[in-house]
Amino acid sequence: MKRLQTIPVPVGSTLTIGGGHPIVVQTMCNTHTSDVQASVAQCRRLAAAGAQLIRLTVPGPADIEPLRAIRDALRAEGIDVPLVADIHFSSQTAMLAAEVVEKVRINPGNFHPDHEEARRQFRSFLEICKRNGTAVRIGLNHGSLGKYITERYGNTPQAMAEAAMEWLRMCLDADFTRVVVSLKASNTVVMVEAYRALVRLMQEAGTVFPLHVGVTEAGNGDSGRIKSCVGISSLLSEGIGDTVRVSLTEDPEAELPVARYLSERYSGGPFASSMTRVRLQQREAVACYEAPSRERLLLDLSCDWGRRLLDREIDSVSFEGLGSPEEAAYLQDELLQAARRRFYKPDYIACPGCGRTMSNLQEAFETVKARTAHLKGMVIAVMGCIVNGPGEMADADWGYVGEGGGKVSIYRGKEPVLRHVPEAEAVDRLLELIEAEKGFRV
Ligand code: SF4
Repeated sequence: MKRLQTIPVPVGSTLTIGGGHPIVVQTMCNTHTSDVQASVAQCRRLAAAGAQLIRLTVPGPADIEPLRAIRDALRAEGIDVPLVADIHFSSQTAMLAAEVVEKVRINPGNFHPDHEEARRQFRSFLEICKRNGTAVRIGLNHGSLGKYITERYGNTPQAMAEAAMEWLRMCLDADFTRVVVSLKASNTVVMVEAYRALVRLMQEAGTVFPLHVGVTEAGNGDSGRIKSCVGISSLLSEGIGDTVRVSLTEDPEAELPVARYLSERYSGGPFASSMTRVRLQQREAVACYEAPSRERLLLDLSCDWGRRLLDREIDSVSFEGLGSPEEAAYLQDELLQAARRRFYKPDYIACPGCGRTMSNLQEAFETVKARTAHLKGMVIAVMGCIVNGPGEMADADWGYVGEGGGKVSIYRGKEPVLRHVPEAEAVDRLLELIEAEKGFRV
């Protein structure tokens, strides 16, 4: 595997993304940034667990001083992991954050509803980043593309790539190249195609910026790990990707072992999968594994087979030597669903949660999963905030979105159909709506 040649992007004085450097492992706090003590404690744990880059949400200008206090407290302790401010909608907040932390993540398209004004604000933002040596991630997600681009290309992988290229060209025009780019989606096929399209466009343009790769809103547990590995490894196995974030609806510490595995496997060093035997029968593979642990097995088989399934090189894979036939069948189901080749349960989109989360997201997701497990093939989103959640849950048939204050909004696609529903009743209301519309027995 030959890594894609990208330009090196320094982030602070201790880290470089791209340019052939090892794949950087990153994660994101789920504390409220205004809670400085809790955020510092979580950053400390994440740094000790191997995070090389830590992102914190910065909802508005009022969070800039807490962000500065978190940075200062970590530096005073000798923790020099670069910090990333995650900004949505507010170019003013992005400009302020660019003077405080090493990197700022934005989606410039949502700086302003008027596209020309968003471009003007983005130019001003780049000037500040240039002055401060701040790196930028242009992070576009499937589902949060502007109208101006979806009207031209639809809500497609090509649209995501074209949208990113517009901002990247502006960076080149401004002679600003400290830029990393991401095009995440929860749908692994869309995500992989979007990154591949962007690589082609960047190569044509003559500057290949480093890529932050991830499957957004992947969920949790085995499904979240398998889905993340299928999507991310499909790209890393062809050399695409300079930094990874595995988004799980779990505590961020849980993401790091998976991200580290991916980094080690695809950074170019020696790596051996625990697959011991394989045979191919027509377009179906049968593989045998001897893994040292179940967690390692999940990661190995997802990375060994994810891209082949996504790219339809094979139709299926089954497993031998995994302890029980039930476990082998379950892992096959999970893998085929993650690669979108066969659906045996609902497809869940669940955000990882962050400092904007206004509800007990992890508990809500478990409840929704338990009550909707029979709705095979339906796409159900569980999102932690009303500000970003609805825009991010592309393709969802139904959405359960935390409003804060113990209340939930229920969405049918992109449209809210019930607001301010008490959390204790929200799943019942969701199931009633699904039953009324589809005649499902819930
Ligand atoms: S949707 Fe989830 S991860 Fe995204 S900003 Fe809201 S709470 Fe954070």
